[in-house]
Amino acid sequence: MQSRAHTWKRAGIKIGFVPTMGFLHAGHLSLVKEARKCVGKKGIVVVSIYVNPTQFAPTEDLAKYPRDLQRDLQLLRELGVDIVFTPGDAEMYPGKAQNRYSTYVVEETLSRSMEGVSRPTHFRGVTTVVAKLFNLVQPDVAVFGQKDFQQAAVIKRMVADMNFPVRIIVAPTLRERDGLAMSSRNKYLDTDQRPQATILFHALQAARAAVKTKSVSATRLKVDLKEFLTAAPLARLDYVEFFDPETLEPVTQVKRGTQMALAVYFGKTRLIDNVTL
Ligand code: AMP
Repeated sequence: MQSRAHTWKRAGIKIGFVPTMGFLHAGHLSLVKEARKCVGKKGIVVVSIYVNPTQFAPTEDLAKYPRDLQRDLQLLRELGVDIVFTPGDAEMYPGKAQNRYSTYVVEETLSRSMEGVSRPTHFRGVTTVVAKLFNLVQPDVAVFGQKDFQQAAVIKRMVADMNFPVRIIVAPTLRERDGLAMSSRNKYLDTDQRPQATILFHALQAARAAVKTKSVSATRLKVDLKEFLTAAPLARLDYVEFFDPETLEPVTQVKRGTQMALAVYFGKTRLIDNVTL
């Protein structure tokens, strides 16, 4: 992958990159289209499919994370993707099985809150694998989804801090018709949980309505949203936060332009969503 990337770079060809964990849906495909737009017809679009073990905690769903490589390849072929990079664990973490892998990239501020509280080792895995993928793919531009808002913020910070020569684009969240944010993990939802999963989207909408013309205290809004979530009895709130979209610092007064994010469990399935209010 790296030697081919070097060849393209020497020829002045732009490389657009979309890292994924596969089991692709329309949200992923919208990022691929965005990458193509950025590099043009003459550019190269690379999509990686790699379920990265270091971003899963031992208790999480690494083993059962949904996979369908043949279907993914077909979808990407139809979109005219040039390269699908599907490394294996031995290639990405050489020596790990023999305890001979020991270098990680850690972002120390933006990754601490929200997802970082619920999944303390998650972002270390994300920044490490994305740094490695950037070194392998050598992209001029890389596209990430707003769906994982905190992840995009952490990656942007890593790129700035570590001087990666790559432009980061954050593309909007694609949703199902009923508002549920598309996610590979939606597949885990059973027929009782699936209709109730729209509660995340509706909570974002409710908060948006609440601050349309005035500001509201974050504490007050959290209380109201917890009450709101009882409309979906199968939902168990992990967190709901209101914060500055740049610094990710929590705010005490929520108003237009405040970022809201929440994580909700349905059984063992954990869903996240966010919006700029
Ligand atoms: P994943 O395969 O879940 O690691 O996601 C790969 C990329 O797709 C990440 O940049 C995600 O933020 C992005 N993504 C996931 N879901 C969506 C969605 N519903 N809309 C847009 N982008 C998404």
